[in-house]
Amino acid sequence: MATIQWFPGHMAKAKKQVQENLHLVDIVLEIVDARLPLSSRNPILDQIIQQKPRLMILNKADLADPTLNNAWINYFKQHDLPAISIDSQHNHNVQQIEKQAQVILADKIARQQARGIKNKPIRAICIGIPNVGKSTILNRLVKRNIAITGNHPGVTKKQQWLKAGKRLELLDTPGILWPKFEDVLVGKKLALTGAIKDSLFHADDVALYELAFFKQYFPERLQKRYSLTIDDLKLNDPDLLMKLTAGFGLREDYERASERLILDCRKGKLGRYTLDQIDEATHD
Ligand code: GDP
Repeated sequence: MATIQWFPGHMAKAKKQVQENLHLVDIVLEIVDARLPLSSRNPILDQIIQQKPRLMILNKADLADPTLNNAWINYFKQHDLPAISIDSQHNHNVQQIEKQAQVILADKIARQQARGIKNKPIRAICIGIPNVGKSTILNRLVKRNIAITGNHPGVTKKQQWLKAGKRLELLDTPGILWPKFEDVLVGKKLALTGAIKDSLFHADDVALYELAFFKQYFPERLQKRYSLTIDDLKLNDPDLLMKLTAGFGLREDYERASERLILDCRKGKLGRYTLDQIDEATHD
């Protein structure tokens, strides 16, 4: 679990580090959590990377709603952002990264070939907020376990290029940027998926959000998992939390009941889900 505390100085350093690395690469691999394709993006990445070619990678696709994985890929494509979904934990679709990078950079590669430069490797960097899977992806691509040192904003070390495919090289230090934590709803979503430290939020706030979400989108899952009746699902969120707390045998310990609900969600006991809805994108 990432433990970065984002003070303004850290943000400035992280931004500067990413900007410096951008000059070295042909393409940015923007990594997001497929459960949070908008909420797990850095708020100023667009501004930082500007016109640099980019591939959006919706990682942890195995945990997200499969229908929404496709819907989000289409959404990004419509916004001129090529996107793919992968599950780096189980090495699913990871090889698409190199293929897609070649497609995105096809014109550049053709120009190089016209000048007699053949098979020059594409140089890339993974960029994203903590915990989206940057290190896991990097290890998958380079096919060995790299201890990612300096994996902290502001820590500088000598950087190396790692062979990450036939014609792909990856910078060994991912770019780490901060999430949009000034938005309360985004904060709850990040907390529910385990993207931010547990000490940074109140468990009951997050559990109430979780209950509201599942009541709206997957009521049957809540019903099944916690043996609830249809009438239970009509309770307002705080009353439902009270009911569940009692059901867990935890009397009035809402904190512990909330932690249990959050853990169930993170462990996939409530199935695959995507917290960001496409219709929220227009308000982003
Ligand atoms: P980083 O902070 O962006 O480098 O994230 P990590 O690579 O350390 O991954 C954070 C956590 O997410 C780890 O526990 C990984 O095992 C897990 N993880 C990474 N990719 C996936 C994935 O595709 N699916 C699932 N289920 N878990 C993943």
